[in-house]
Amino acid sequence: MDQPQDQAEGTSVSQPDVEPALVAPNGLEEILATFGDIYKYIRPDGSLDPRWQADFLERVALPFPLLLSWDHSKTADQLTCHKRMTEIFRTVFASIQQRGLQAKIRSFGGCFAFRPQRTGTKLSTHSWGIAIDLNPETNVQGTLGDLDAEVIEIFRGAGFKWGGDWEGCRRDAMHFQFCTGY
Ligand SMILES: [Zn+2]
Repeated sequence: MDQPQDQAEGTSVSQPDVEPALVAPNGLEEILATFGDIYKYIRPDGSLDPRWQADFLERVALPFPLLLSWDHSKTADQLTCHKRMTEIFRTVFASIQQRGLQAKIRSFGGCFAFRPQRTGTKLSTHSWGIAIDLNPETNVQGTLGDLDAEVIEIFRGAGFKWGGDWEGCRRDAMHFQFCTGY
């Protein structure tokens, strides 16, 4: 009887030069493996080495300008996110525009920001540039908020976890992050 040849190991199959679709990591270890070990970039005084931005972050042009939540006299026409997230953010904002929902995004509360979580001592997922805050004025942490359901579905469809699904005081309706279990 002929045994089928085991081709599982050691065979080199030529792959097309396209990065596979990014899957949202689960938990800190997977976040570090997927988006980089930020702890190696935190200096003894607690500040973030600017090499982190140089090594891992990129700017993405937005299809429509966003009002800055911290300065309503200014708008952003790009955001700074993790370099592996650029296509995902591009796709999300293109969908928002295509579906005529851009007026639902009244302000932008930030994407990359090095900081601890507001309710805890862990680093915020904003530190990796994999999270975004929208309409923070009316979506204060712990409140129900008023984010548009279709906008939430677009982010979910792209693989984001919505902070509005968290319970009680952790509820963070302005916040979307591209990871789970963290
Ligand atoms: Zn946030």
